[in-house]
Amino acid sequence: MAHGMPSQGKVTISVDEYSSNPTQAFTHYNINQSRFQPPHVHMVDPIPYDTPKPGGHTRFVCVSDTHSRTDGIQMPYGDVLLHMGDFTELGLPSEVKKFNDWLGSLPYEFKVVIAGNHELTFDKDFMAELVKQDYYRFPSVSKLKLEDFDNVQSLLTNCVYLQDSDVTIKGFRIYGTPWTPWFNGWGFNLPRGQSLLDKWNLIPEGIDILMTHGPPLGFRDWVPKELQRVGCVELLNTVQRRVRPKLHAFGGIHEGYGIMTDGYTTFINASTCTVSFQPTNPPIVFDLPNPTSS
Ligand code: 5GP
Ligand code: MN
Ligand code: MN
Repeated sequence: MAHGMPSQGKVTISVDEYSSNPTQAFTHYNINQSRFQPPHVHMVDPIPYDTPKPGGHTRFVCVSDTHSRTDGIQMPYGDVLLHMGDFTELGLPSEVKKFNDWLGSLPYEFKVVIAGNHELTFDKDFMAELVKQDYYRFPSVSKLKLEDFDNVQSLLTNCVYLQDSDVTIKGFRIYGTPWTPWFNGWGFNLPRGQSLLDKWNLIPEGIDILMTHGPPLGFRDWVPKELQRVGCVELLNTVQRRVRPKLHAFGGIHEGYGIMTDGYTTFINASTCTVSFQPTNPPIVFDLPNPTSS
């Protein structure tokens, strides 16, 4: 495939031989291919909020993992808000309402939101399992009646909610998906390997912006307290070898807040909350040239 060109024809991603051990995958591909270091990837500084938006561009404001702690967040100027999930602690309808009110108070022309593993009530299969077992793990969620959360998505009236789906906004084709590698049995958790790849295979080619809750391998996915990489290997291969969006925005690993690029795709981990759930990481703004209709 020529550098910088969209892939022609269909590329098929298969499960990586290091899929189940992302830390080992990172080491292997770095030693053998320098895959995660210069000149292949670079850190990127965020642009200051008062940077003038270039003509013919759209300004995206990225936040994630606000976890019902939106009160003190200073929101910058922009056109489109992207929120990459974990807007609540447990997906309680009261939290979703409060989040939706906050969205309603923001001046952006469009707001696009996906769920994360904390939005338990948005994951219907998770809820079906929860009622069968483990009342004491999430008592306030177990206590909900089906009619309280059956339509929880409809509480999000002030944004476009994406769940394995896409929307075109101002000419940008944006796809959003909530799934993350299994970790402690939260919502939208799936085993690494084929199960997650099946979800990534739903992402169409021709997407400009990809929103996922968690990071791909090697890009803002380091968990210092465990000395581990936890990004999804299949997600990385899907992004770099098949979908090739201009922007891949995510959160999920709060410690990974920041921006990197592989020279084609910009990777933004927009986690607002720190690892101790303090909402102190500023929203990240990113300008993209408007797609030319052809
Ligand atoms: P959350 O509970 O909001 O989904 O994630 C909060 C924190 O839990 C993250 O910042 C990270 O420290 C940890 N965490 C989340 N997902 C994973 C994972 O898949 N593996 C590991 N080791 N830690 C994770
Ligand atoms: Mn989170
Ligand atoms: Mn999360």
